[in-house]
This record gives sequence, structure tokens and C-alpha cells, in this order.
Amino acid sequence: MTPKSAAAAARATVYGYPRQGPDRELKKAVEGYWQGRVDAARLQDTARGLRAAAWRQLTSDGADEVPTGDFSLYDHVLDTSVMVGAIPARHRAAVTADALDGYFAMARGTRDVAPLEMTKWFDTNYHYLVPELGPDTGFTADSAKQVGELREALALGLRARPVLVGPVTYLLLAKAAPGTEDGFAPLSLLDRLLPVYEEVLADLRAAGAEWVQLDEPALVQDRTPAELAAAERAYAYLGGRADRPKLLVASYFDRLGEALPVLAKAPVDGLALDFTGAASANLDALAAAGGLPGKRLVAGVVDGRNIWTGDLERALATLGTLLGLADRVDVSASCSLLHVPLDAAREKDVDPQVLRWLAFARQKTAELATLAKALTHGTDTVAAALAANRAALASRAASPLTHDPAVQARTAAVTDADAHRAAPYGERAAAQRAHLALPPLPTTTIGSFPQTGAIRAARADLRAGRLDTAGYEKRIEEEIRQVVSFQEEAGLDVLVHGEPERNDMVQYFAERLSGYLATRHGWVQSYGTRYVRPPVLAGDVSRPAPMTVRWTAYAQSLTAKPVKGMLTGPVTMLAWSFVRDDQPLAETARQVALALRDEVRDLEAAGTRVIQVDEPALRETLPLRTDARPAYLAWATEAFRLTTSGVAAATQVHTHMCYAEFGDVVDAIDDLDADVISLEAARSHMRIAHELAAHGYPREAGPGVYDIHSPRVPGADEVAALLRTGLKAIPPERLWVNPDCGLKTRGWPETRASLEHLVAAARTVRGEL
Ligand code: GLN
Ligand code: ZN
Repeated sequence: MTPKSAAAAARATVYGYPRQGPDRELKKAVEGYWQGRVDAARLQDTARGLRAAAWRQLTSDGADEVPTGDFSLYDHVLDTSVMVGAIPARHRAAVTADALDGYFAMARGTRDVAPLEMTKWFDTNYHYLVPELGPDTGFTADSAKQVGELREALALGLRARPVLVGPVTYLLLAKAAPGTEDGFAPLSLLDRLLPVYEEVLADLRAAGAEWVQLDEPALVQDRTPAELAAAERAYAYLGGRADRPKLLVASYFDRLGEALPVLAKAPVDGLALDFTGAASANLDALAAAGGLPGKRLVAGVVDGRNIWTGDLERALATLGTLLGLADRVDVSASCSLLHVPLDAAREKDVDPQVLRWLAFARQKTAELATLAKALTHGTDTVAAALAANRAALASRAASPLTHDPAVQARTAAVTDADAHRAAPYGERAAAQRAHLALPPLPTTTIGSFPQTGAIRAARADLRAGRLDTAGYEKRIEEEIRQVVSFQEEAGLDVLVHGEPERNDMVQYFAERLSGYLATRHGWVQSYGTRYVRPPVLAGDVSRPAPMTVRWTAYAQSLTAKPVKGMLTGPVTMLAWSFVRDDQPLAETARQVALALRDEVRDLEAAGTRVIQVDEPALRETLPLRTDARPAYLAWATEAFRLTTSGVAAATQVHTHMCYAEFGDVVDAIDDLDADVISLEAARSHMRIAHELAAHGYPREAGPGVYDIHSPRVPGADEVAALLRTGLKAIPPERLWVNPDCGLKTRGWPETRASLEHLVAAARTVRGEL
């Protein structure tokens, strides 16, 4: 390909960058500040140093334009709330007393004041703090953070572009403040908010910004005509101001759809669009809309969500098409690089052959630089990089590490019958009743018991070689003995082994399945100072050996009561990992499901009568666009059934999900065909029991009666009252009594007392039947 014209050189840029620093310096500084070990000045110094280092790194890796303002001490949506002065009344005193402490009070709460609610940022595993707005919310501009960070980058001599959460997305992500009357929509505050954005934009221009990016990812979701009209009004307003920088409106995570023509016609200077995955529909839509004449297009052609080396030639082909559709085309990752780890080159334990398949933030930046250079100077100038890219992709495609013919043959041979229990529910329920002989309102827990410091220390000792495997396993057995004997004394009906051997519900299984890869430095921000290291689904998945049977069987050997086997389901195993981009997710899910199916069968063969397969991620992985949901739910529920359908009618299959909002997946929950489902419900007063009943849910359910998110011990009366409420919706032979979720984050004293109250309540209410 040759460059279209001698017009402006294509630039490589990104919308955001990992914040934490190469060794999570930011986490250490922020937590040190909370603990009083680091003062505010040192925290801000550390933050400034990390920003400068990130910009320098971006530049040396080949970015021509760096983002500013995307950095955050906690969360960029919270920063936006501060920028527009949307401080909830309960936090105002703290913010006035000390801006930094007030900021953290909004993020984390204090002894007296609750924090803002936290929720997932679109379909990523990043969590933001939900703005709380009401009809009385007044906005005021505070551009200090944005202006300050822009000045820092400009002072380094860099071409810098501030990045802001756009006003429409900000309002669409907000919720009505507590106490606001029903029917209030935060978007109704748009006209009040726009002048504040106008002021921030003017300040940024005065500080030297040529371009400012406004992120509007909310526009890739299904939007009503009124919401689209709001977007049109917002950008007509901001675009129409005289005293403004050039505006780049960015969207990512999916296609813009009906919002594309709205933004294309808006009086702004550029759009940034995602052209990867499902969002590649933007390409045809853009052509159909007549392109972006006179505007700048920033093309997200390198996937910002996965950790794989991208296909540069395919990206160049996309860019070639786009060159004819806009005034100028620049190159970016599809979304902020916040969602990927920093540097694959640091993964010294990864096979060097595999390492070249991996691209974290630094490697993705280098890909962007290659693409921009190819656009500007022609592909000949990057021939070596393209050849290396081709070779890496070819090696991955042909590698026995990614392709296992036995696994592929097995998934190809899956039949519909494999994904269905042989017996209908009614028959299973009767067989299980006979097999388990449980009382009405049976009591159980969700799986984990408190993960004490001693358990974590034993794991650390094992890793460090201070403890051998036999010694570690003895400690785990000791823990299981205690957990089982406590449950017997407390009088629970279906016991668990307590999951002491698990560091994490996904990682534990990933470490035992072939096809998964672990990283050493692959940290990504989950929220605030919490970072996770998701495992990587790299190749075809199989299970070399049983993963949990030993512990479940050991627990069962200690008691006559049924011990429930505990597994993480296939959808959750994908959702909390980096997934493959070289085969459909449905195929990966099937492979994981078959591996788990073997585990389910082995548990049954070892005498396990109840098996729970957790799927807390089923709902959070829903595609952003509703038209993509049926296909997702079809493969997701099939994978669950494939995992669980290989057992006899008398073996009881449980599932668990950790949320109370599930209206949009209630049909899917039914489709799982689990014999028993446990869900979160304690805080919502068993509302879910009534929703299940209203839906005609035919099987057994355990709406949680103990809120495990708080150390508070519920009284037996309180639990009994919840059960009576549940019984109005679900009959006693189908209603289970359990906490909202696992107990691993709780201490023993409150766990002990709460479960004793839970059993006492079940007994009281049984007596009333
Ligand atoms: N079985 C897991 C536990 O109890 C479930 C955790 C979850 O739902 N997130 O810890
Ligand atoms: Zn849960």
C-alpha cells in the first residue's frame, strides 16, 4: 500500500494507559496513604512520576500523541464527578475539609458515611464509582486535574490530548441519588451539565490543548430516540462554542449503530471508532453514512481488550478502506489500554515461542506505531515488523500448544443429548429426594469458609519452598476437618469442604487445566487499588487429572451428611480470563465445559451426591447490544448443561450466582436446568424469590438470607422473617436456606454465629409448616 497523499502523517495514539506503574507503585502509594505511611505530597509525587514515565514509555514505543487526564488515583468516573462538582451531600463535608481525603471517602466510605456504589464498566472487569445525581444536583467546573495533567505532558514536550468521560455517557452511567423520587433520569440534567463541560474545554484550550477527546462508550449500547437526541443536542452545543479545542468523540466496546449518523453529523472535529470484533460493523456503517468528510477519524484497529499480538495486515486492510472515508486517519487501540497489562516482555517464565504471540500495552503501542508508519510512509518501510508479525501469527496458528486434535475431535462430537440431563426434572427431583433425604427448607452454604491468614501463609510457604506438598496437604486436610465438624455441630444439612485449597475460584482451575497460561506481571486494575492477574486461555483445553475430587472425597469421608462438590462454571472460567481471539468464544466454552464435565463425573463416581457449578459471571458477560444476547445465552447455557448433564438423575446439580438483578437472564437461568439455584437476596428482602415464582421457575431455589458483604450477624428472627417471605413465593420443599455467597472474606466469629442463626431460623420455620 502506498500513502494516499502527502497529507498529514498518520499518528499513533491511545485513549488511556495502565495507571499502576510497572511494579504497582501506585497501589503501594495509595494504600500507604490510607495507612498513614505516605503523606499527600509524596503520593502526588509518585503519581506525577508514574504519569511522566507512562508518557515517556508511550512515546518511546512509538505513540505520536499521548492521552492525559486518563490517569486516576482511584477511578476516572469518580474523577469526572469531581470535575463537574457532583459531590453527594453526604460526602460534602469530607471534601470541603480535605479534597484528597474527601475523594477517597467517596470511593471507599468512612466509618460514618457510605461510599458511592461500584459497578462494572460496560462489559469489562473494571469497576467504576456510580455518580449519584438528583433533580437538585448543581454542577460546577473543576478543571484542575485535567489542566494540571495536560500541563505536565506539555512540559515534557509531548503532543498531548486530554481525555474526558463525555457528558452523555457520564449521565447515562449515573444513578438517581438515594431518596430521589421515582422516575428521575440523570440524563434530564444534560442542559445543566453542558456549560460545565464547556468551561472545562475552554480551560483545556487555554492551557494548550489542540484536541480534547470525549469518551461516549454508552452510545454503543441500545439507545432510545430520546437518548440519541440528547447526544445530538450535547454535541451541537459543545461543537457550537467558539472558545473550544478541537473535539474528538470516542466510542468503543461495540458498534455505534444508530448513534453513528448522529455523531457523524455533529459539529465536532473527529470521531474515534472501534473496528475490532463485533464493532467492525462500524466499517460498513461508516461507509453507508458517507464517511466523515472534513473530519479526523481515529481508527481503533488493534484490540485493546485482549493480550494477543494483532494481525497487522488485516488492520492495514481496514485502514486502507478507511483512508477514503475521512479527512485524516490516525491509528489507535480499540479502547483504553487500561484493560490490558503493561509489558509482555517481562514474562520471563513464558516459553519464548509463546511470548511473541502476546501483546500487552507496550507491545500494542508498538503495533500502532508500525501501522501509523505504514500509512504514512508505505508498507515497505515496516517490512521487517510485518514479517515478524506474520511469523508470530503463523507460529501460533500451527502450534501444538494451541491445537490439540483430541480436544477438537471431542468438541466436534458433542451431541444435543450430551447437553441435556437424561431424566426430566420431575423424575430427578423424586430420585434426589429419596437419595438425599433432606428436610424441608434444607440448609447449606455457597462453598467457601473463611480464608484465614494461616491458610494463606501455608500457601505462601508452599510457594517459597518452606513447606513441602505433603505438609501443605496436611494443613488443608486439617482445615477441612474443622470446617466439616463445625457444620455438623451447627446442624447444616448439605455440607461443603470450605475451599481452603483455592487461591481464587478461577485461578485454581486455570492452574490445573491444560490450555491455560499464567502470567507473573499480568496485572490489570479491577477497581481502586485492587488488581487481578487473569489467567490466559491460550490453547485447546483439557483436564489432565481430577482437580477437586481429593478434597471433596476427604470431606465426605468425615461425615454421613452429603458434602457438596464445588466447581467454577465454564462461562465464569472465560469471563475472568483473557480469552482466545482465534476461535469463537462458544468453542472455548465448550472445551472448558467438557473438561469440567469430566470433573463432575469423577466427583459423582467418588460418592458426591450434590455438585454445585458456580456461574457468577453469566449475567455480567452479556453482550452490550441486545441483538447479540440470544446467541451468547445459547452457548453459555449449553456450556453449563454440557458441564452438568453427565450425571445420574439422583445426583443433584446446584448453581450459584451472586446478584439480585437478573430479570434479563431469567429465561437463561431456567435454561441451565440446574436442580437448585442459589442467588443473592438478603439485601433485597427475597425479592428474587417472588421474581422466580412470577416467572414460573419450576425447580428449587435458595435466595440468600445472610448478607455476606458485611460483618454484621443477622439474628435468627430476621432470617426466619426472610424465610417466611420466601415461602410466600416458593413452597417449602423447593426453598433452600443459605447465605448470599461464599464466606471466604468473612471472619470465623461472625460466620459461626450467622450460620447458627440461619439453622435455628430454618428449624423454627419448619416447625410452622
Ligand atoms: N463457591 C464460591 C465461594 O463460595 C462462589 C464464589 C462466588 O460466587 N463468587 O466462594
Ligand atoms: Zn456468589
